[in-house]
Amino acid sequence: MPADFTFDVTAPWEIQLLVQRTLGAREKAVIPFNLGYALPSGYYTTTKAVVVEPPTEKPSAAELVADEQPLWVRIWSMDRVTIGITVAALLVLTGIFFFQDWLVKRPRLFAWVRNGYLLFTLVWLGWYAGAQLSVVNVLTFTSALVTNFSWEFFLAAPLIFILWAAVAAGLLFWGRGPFCGWLCPFGALQELLSAVAKRLKVPQVRLPWGLHERLWPIKYIIFLGLFGMSFYSMSYAEMLSEVEPFKTVIILKFVRDWPFVIFAVALLVAGLFVERFYCRYLCPLGAALAIPGRIRMFEWLKRYPDCGSPCQRCSKECPVQAIHPEGQINVNECIYCMHCQELYHDDHRCPHMIQKRLKREKFVALSTPESRGEQPKPPRTVVTHHGQPITPT
Ligand code: SF4
Ligand code: SF4
Repeated sequence: MPADFTFDVTAPWEIQLLVQRTLGAREKAVIPFNLGYALPSGYYTTTKAVVVEPPTEKPSAAELVADEQPLWVRIWSMDRVTIGITVAALLVLTGIFFFQDWLVKRPRLFAWVRNGYLLFTLVWLGWYAGAQLSVVNVLTFTSALVTNFSWEFFLAAPLIFILWAAVAAGLLFWGRGPFCGWLCPFGALQELLSAVAKRLKVPQVRLPWGLHERLWPIKYIIFLGLFGMSFYSMSYAEMLSEVEPFKTVIILKFVRDWPFVIFAVALLVAGLFVERFYCRYLCPLGAALAIPGRIRMFEWLKRYPDCGSPCQRCSKECPVQAIHPEGQINVNECIYCMHCQELYHDDHRCPHMIQKRLKREKFVALSTPESRGEQPKPPRTVVTHHGQPITPT
């Protein structure tokens, strides 16, 4: 309690909890929960009248302005630090994407950058700040568009708003990749767990292409089902959105009823054998992002004409099997991990680059005097200003 606040414990008082986000689409962004209390008279005796003077000081101009500000402005100014960190992280990510060629040519540095970013996304963005986007946001947004759209509602959750703005901009450039590959805390958790599993030699299952391709539509069906349901009943749609384990794993950190925990753990365990199992086949948010992601305007992932025919290396190493055996990348499935771009520049792993390197080395070897059958020139002797001869090595 502030030191200058006069609190009379014998008078009835009320505590108010302001819940800043709601689960319903048409409810207010902030709901106050009031709990009144009056100390039972048996707990105290009054010996003399206590007169509490009302504060005489008038509120300052700044306080008056603050009181008049819309709620979302007050929420944003309270969350300044977390907003600053999130914006900085998004700028770093933009830098990573713009300088991807430079980075992927340095695999060790890139591995540090990628793992570091995924850890940040999981621990800070997800578990600390609770900024996990969800398909519920998509359903709420579309539902609000056809009912009573209000920016204030969406602005009341600053990090979610900023992330959605960034994801929308990223969709134009790179599709769903920036979010699914870098900013989704649950995606980051799956990838980090998979990396640990691979280190521990957990066998990795690679699904036959025919089956893998036929499992892709499941997530679109789930998303369309939720989308349709949201027009009938938003509360049912939100209930069914529990197919997303985000709330259990990221928001509530596994502190939840056991059926939810078992479901989430089962998905994570499946991901130990099939990398990003949930992202590949089940995630409705991934599907929701893949649909508008098709409008992306640039193609930043490079390929050689011999990718796919005959070379299959990228296609075999893509962690989510997003590269068709024919060589083209399926942008709906690509999470923009940039692994194929690392291979693209690696002249010890990419067969196309290996051939180029061998040609270059052969050319250099053939251009030396010995290889042309010429006698190497004798070294020149130089005389210093002291008159001593020296031979440069
Ligand atoms: S597919 Fe779903 S879980 Fe996976 S990274 Fe994308 S949004 Fe996250
Ligand atoms: S390896 Fe390439 S195609 Fe596969 S997910 Fe990563 S960036 Fe996308």
